[in-house]
Amino acid sequence: MNIHEYQSKQIMREYGIHVPEGYPAFTVEDALENAKRLDTPVVVVKAQIHAGGRGEAGGVKLARSLDEVRKYAKELLGKVLVTRQTGPQGKTVNRLLIEAGCHIKKEYYLSFVVDRQAECVVMMGSESGGMSIEDVAAENPEKIIKEYIDPVIGLADFQAQRMAYALHFEKPTIRKAATFMKYLYNVFVDKDCSLAEVNPLVVTEEGDVMALDAKLNFDDSTLSRHPEIVALRDITEEDQKEREAAAEGLNYVNLGGDVACMVNGAGLAMATVDIIKENGGEPANFLDVGGDSTPEKIVAAFRIMLEDDQVDGILINIFGGINKCDVIATGIVEAAALLSGGKEEFPIPVVVRLEGRNVERGREILAKADIKNLYPASSMDEGAKLAIRLAKETREKK
Ligand code: GDP
Ligand code: MN
Repeated sequence: MNIHEYQSKQIMREYGIHVPEGYPAFTVEDALENAKRLDTPVVVVKAQIHAGGRGEAGGVKLARSLDEVRKYAKELLGKVLVTRQTGPQGKTVNRLLIEAGCHIKKEYYLSFVVDRQAECVVMMGSESGGMSIEDVAAENPEKIIKEYIDPVIGLADFQAQRMAYALHFEKPTIRKAATFMKYLYNVFVDKDCSLAEVNPLVVTEEGDVMALDAKLNFDDSTLSRHPEIVALRDITEEDQKEREAAAEGLNYVNLGGDVACMVNGAGLAMATVDIIKENGGEPANFLDVGGDSTPEKIVAAFRIMLEDDQVDGILINIFGGINKCDVIATGIVEAAALLSGGKEEFPIPVVVRLEGRNVERGREILAKADIKNLYPASSMDEGAKLAIRLAKETREKK
């Protein structure tokens, strides 16, 4: 789960981390009110969306008067901001953070993340702050410094100090930087974060060490013990379809291509996505109907996939285990009838590959139903190739 920058900063503040004074704003009036409250020569107006890269996309503005605050707040609220992290459709700005400006002397990068390979939390720091860490990792990987943290000991003082020296913090700020790291580690552990990132962490002309940006992601499986985090959820930031699917007990992930995949099980989902890619296609999503599919779930899955205009074909890849192929087949037949108003057809090609438990009965049900636009496939590879070709034909007819 993600939260907004201003919410992350509030949590960091509670843990003793120095962040600029600032308040969230939902309207232009809020923004002006907050700017007056700050009463600083420079006020930063920041778009609050669940995506980074706002700076270079025009989502971070420095205002030098109340008139400028009004102008920028008006401009940003309701605007669709397209950043390198939002995808081409962008994200609508519904909230702003109105923050006291500061005199930046130098920008750094600092984060904590779980390193699966090392099986521990790693602290990463860089002197190349403020810019995309992905770019730094690609172009100057040696500029990213890592400290692997023993889960029993936690972040040791010497590690924080070593990081501060390696990042060339100046003498008077070394201790503050190391303390900052320790506090951020406390946030990471206490709140069950999957990521805690400050980019940029800045040293100001006055010698303060502060978080100018803040990003916390949380491990979803721990949310039951963090009602205070769940309360910060902003569902307008979450993928509409992923939410709908979750409500139906389906696991849906949007991938942006044109061939939708209905599968059972995450492993098969990965394999299906891979095989579509390998055959030159682009998966639109994967929709995992899980191990206890009912015909109702299959119908819901079709509805979600067909709502997406981008989808020109569907590949159903089911390995019957706990799921029985005949139940899936019945769901497919019901979906065709429901979605076509009883005409027994699908609006776009649907390729079905069934294997496993009760497969003969499943194939029989599909053959008997004689649904238009439904194509059986006997292997994953054949199914993927067929779905890609049929999706292409659908697209060309559009
Ligand atoms: P991101 O682009 O979404 O990561 O947004 P950030 O919060 O990191 O802001 C982008 C950039 O705006 C930062 O790297 C800073 O250079 C600049 N910025 C953010 N807040 C302030 C501020 O208070 N004062 C000044 N002068 N610059 C700021
Ligand atoms: Mn940033």
